[in-house]
Amino acid sequence: MEIKAIRGFNDILPDEIGKWQFVEDTAREVFEGFGFSEIRIPIIERTELFSRGIGEVTDIVEKEMYTFTDKSGNSLTLRPEATASIARAYIEHQLYTFDPVAKLYCIGPMFRYEKPQKGRYRQFYQIDAEVFGVENPMVDAEIILMLIHFLKKVGLEKLELQINSLGCRACRPRYREELKNFLTKRSFQLCEDCQRRLHTNPLRIFDCKVETCQEAIADAPRVVDYICDECHKHFNKVKEYLGMAGLTFILNPRMVRGLDYYTRTAFEVVSYQLGAQNAVTGGGRYDNLFQEIGGLDVPGIGFAIGMERLISLLPKEKEFFRYPHLFVAALSEEAYREAYQLVNQLHLQGIRTELDYEGKSLKSQMRRANKLKARYVLILGEEELKRGRAALRNMEDKSQEEIPISDILNVIKGKVKGV
Ligand code: ATP
Ligand code: MG
Repeated sequence: MEIKAIRGFNDILPDEIGKWQFVEDTAREVFEGFGFSEIRIPIIERTELFSRGIGEVTDIVEKEMYTFTDKSGNSLTLRPEATASIARAYIEHQLYTFDPVAKLYCIGPMFRYEKPQKGRYRQFYQIDAEVFGVENPMVDAEIILMLIHFLKKVGLEKLELQINSLGCRACRPRYREELKNFLTKRSFQLCEDCQRRLHTNPLRIFDCKVETCQEAIADAPRVVDYICDECHKHFNKVKEYLGMAGLTFILNPRMVRGLDYYTRTAFEVVSYQLGAQNAVTGGGRYDNLFQEIGGLDVPGIGFAIGMERLISLLPKEKEFFRYPHLFVAALSEEAYREAYQLVNQLHLQGIRTELDYEGKSLKSQMRRANKLKARYVLILGEEELKRGRAALRNMEDKSQEEIPISDILNVIKGKVKGV
C-alpha cells in the first residue's frame, strides 16, 4: 500500500519553495535591520512549558496540543507556538545578564491538532518576533512598524492594522466579572464550549467561531472601558507612537487574542486582498508570561505570522520559480565531454545549468530545454566544436549567435543579470 503524508501535514514542493524562500529571506533582512537576532529553539518541549505559559484554559492547551509520553515517562509536546520556548531560552541561558533587552526572531514549524482546512493545518509555519525587557510603549509601536514594513515589502496590499488593549493583572479581573455577568444572562445562546468558558475564561468567547456566540457577545462590555489608568496611559502612548511612525490603525475593542498571557496591547493585521478577510498575523504584549514560566519579572511583546496564509496572499503576477539560466545540448561523444566540463565550471560559478544525460537527439533536447523554461541553450555541435565555438540560442526571442566556448561564462553572466 502506498504511504501518504498525515492529514494536515503538507509537503512544500519545488514549484512553491521560491515563495517560501523569498518570504524567509525578506523577514531575515527586515528583522535584522531592526536589530533583531535569530534564535532557534527545539520543536519539542516539556508539556508544562505550554500549559503554564499559554494557559490551561485556552483552545491550544485544551484541544490542540500534540502531547505524548516519551520512553522515560516524560510528558512532551510538539511546540504549538514559539513565544513560550523563546522566553524559556532567555531565562535558561540568562540572556538578560548581557543586556536586559533582547530582540529575537524565529522561523519554523508549529503543530496544532486542529481540523484541517484551507489556511488551517496541523503542521504550519510561523515567523515569530519578540522583544523582551522593555515596558516602554515605544517598543510596541516599533515592533508593529517592523511587522507592517515586512508585510508591505513582501507585496501585501490593503492591510488593516487593528489594535486593542486587554488591560493588566490589576484591571482585568473586574472586566472579567462584568463580562461574565453580561453573558450569564445570555448563556442559553452560547455553545457548549462557551458555556464552560463562561466560568473558566469568559474572554475566550470573543474568539468563538459559532454564530450564536458571536451574537450573544455583540453588545458585550468593552475591555477598553475597564482598563486602569496605567493601562490607559500605555495605550494612549502606543497610539501616539504609531501615529508618529506614520501608521494608521483602527481600534477593535472585540479583538481578544487566543492566548492567555497577553496583557495591554493586542494587535492583528487583516488583509482585505481578494475580498476575503484574513488574519495573517497577530501579537501583543505579555507582561505575565515570564512570571508563569520562570518567576521572573520581564515584560515582553511579540507577534507571529502564519506563513501559509501570508504566502496565499503574495502577488500572483510575481515569478518565484528559478528556471535554469542555461541548458547545454551536446550532439556527439566529444561534445558530451566538453559539456560535462562546462557544466561543472558554470555550476561552480552559480549559473543554473541543465544538461541532457540521455544522449538524445537535438530536437528532443530542445524540447526538454523548452519545458524546463531554460533562458538560453548552448548547442555543442561537432563542426563548431572543432573550431572551439558553439551556438547560443535565446529561448525567448529565438535569436541565435555563435560564440567561442571559452567565453560562455562571461557571456551568460552578462545576459542573466544578478548572477
Ligand atoms: P485562528 O484564530 O485563525 O485560529 P490563532 O489566534 O490561533 O488564529 P495565533 O496563535 O495568533 O493564531 O497564530 C498566529 C498566526 O498563525 C495566525 O494569524 C495564522 O496566520 C497562523 N495560524 C494559526 N493556526 C494555524 C493553523 N492551524 N494553520 C495555519 N496557520 C495557522
Ligand atoms: Mg487558533
